[in-house]
Amino acid sequence: MAPQYDAIVVGAGFGGMGAAIELKRLGLHDLLILEREDDLGGTWHVNRYPGLAVDIPSSTYSYSFEPNPHWSRLFAPGEELKRYAEHVAVKYGLRPLMRFGVTVTGARWRDGHWEVVAGEKTFTARYLVTATGFLSMPKMPDIEGIESFQGKVIHTAAWEPCDLAGKRVAIIGTGATAVQLIPELARQASALTVYQRTPIWVSPKPDYPIPPAVRTLFARLPFAQRAVRWLGSSVLELMMISGVVRYKQLRVVNRLAERWCRLHLHRQVRDPELRRRLTPDYSFGCKRPTFSNDYFRTFTRPHVRLETASIERVDASGVVTAEGKAEIDVLVLATGFDLWDTNFPAFEVIGREGRDLGAWWRQNRFQAYEGVTVPGFPNYLSLNSPYSYSGLSYFTTIECQMTHVRRLFTAMRSRGSSVFEVTQRANDEFLHRMRTKVTRNSVFSLGHCATAHSYYFNQHGEATLLRPTSTVSAHRAANSFPLSDYDFSSIGVTRTGRADAPAGRQGQSTAPRPAGNPAW
Ligand code: NAP
Repeated sequence: MAPQYDAIVVGAGFGGMGAAIELKRLGLHDLLILEREDDLGGTWHVNRYPGLAVDIPSSTYSYSFEPNPHWSRLFAPGEELKRYAEHVAVKYGLRPLMRFGVTVTGARWRDGHWEVVAGEKTFTARYLVTATGFLSMPKMPDIEGIESFQGKVIHTAAWEPCDLAGKRVAIIGTGATAVQLIPELARQASALTVYQRTPIWVSPKPDYPIPPAVRTLFARLPFAQRAVRWLGSSVLELMMISGVVRYKQLRVVNRLAERWCRLHLHRQVRDPELRRRLTPDYSFGCKRPTFSNDYFRTFTRPHVRLETASIERVDASGVVTAEGKAEIDVLVLATGFDLWDTNFPAFEVIGREGRDLGAWWRQNRFQAYEGVTVPGFPNYLSLNSPYSYSGLSYFTTIECQMTHVRRLFTAMRSRGSSVFEVTQRANDEFLHRMRTKVTRNSVFSLGHCATAHSYYFNQHGEATLLRPTSTVSAHRAANSFPLSDYDFSSIGVTRTGRADAPAGRQGQSTAPRPAGNPAW
């Protein structure tokens, strides 16, 4: 039976939309985009907490082929990102392809195509793309008694408008989300207690409104905005290379970044004891650093208290530590997201010969060739894979992956094939290269990361989220990976003649070459 769709994309965030745009450009028009939420935008649809803003300059945090001259600030607020996502979806004809409120529970490679299950429904497609995000499964803290709290409990990823004026508020967590939210909470609450387990490196945020005249300039002369994008990308690249990837060679720059953050803290907080408690004891770059101009200062306000004693329990009226109890009305959980336990992959994916991706990753190390494809999983693009995240802006990752997909599908089409699968050899070599780079050069191995509690590390203590190369090198790889790293074949006419058999070796396919485009 022919599959219903050319491709199914799971996830209607920026990653999924980028993949769908690329597939459409490649001539795959029969696409289905399945999304668990009730609208598109991924992170920027789900997250609505006060203070939400991008922490990368917006000219960089956007598709290079779709610049937006209308950003109101250098670091745009969350709702502008959401509007940008809507604009892209309409302009590139993606909205009609999307189905919302559909939670995919499993996918299986069967009879030469993918079967994707969502509750009672099954969809079939020749290609499967998962773009389910890294930070999409909110983590609820395992704290005794939290369910007995009688006030309001709210996770930052499920924010609902609530009047905090005059309320006693506590927030658990001091990650990038909390850094944005805490100053906002302090503006409204009558008392705010911040429960910090691990401090975070915070740099000043060079954030300014973009005057209307500059926006007009960007609209009329896109080149001007491209120059700003280039500048922003270069600064981020320098941070990433010196802070993380080339720590061994550029340790001094990493130290300067730490100094810069310490100076920022020093300028905003005069109390040395408070400064000490807000200063990380792990190397810059072990955990994603963030930007804020008012985070540190907030702790100097009389109604804001930093609590660093461990939380023992939550009871009906507050949070208890060894230092005592804070009576509160609202408990905010800025406790982040589960990645490695629940999001790799986000649902069961079964490939060739029954290979279970989640189990295979856990038994054989987290790995994916160029952060995109996995041996044993034909016609599958896993966008949120180990070693896929490149640079600091997610759009770098997205665009590298779009390039990879373009090169891969073009090669497949030129061979008259319709099935691709990365070879085990190429995957092994890539994994070896990435592991060597992490071990020899990166802050993850050579810095002090043990106390960082960073989600860059998986449950085995290996830093397998970020690609340990420059973004320039990631782009180069996407443009020039050896095509012999893939096997190409056609359904039903593979080396062994079985429809779900391993794809035939590149250039050795026995498939007759169809005239014109292959049937996808
Ligand atoms: P996060 O960085 O994982 O931080 C979670 C915080 O909650 C940490 O401080 C963690 O402490 C704490 N925590 C978790 N469980 C706890 C428990 N049981 N008891 C006490 N504390 C607990 O999550 P996030 O702040 O939501 O940020 C996640 C990522 O989202 C960021 O790194 C960033 O990439 C992204 N983000 C991006 C933007 C943007 O503008 N683009 C904005 C916000 C967030 P430990 O560190 O000790 O575990």
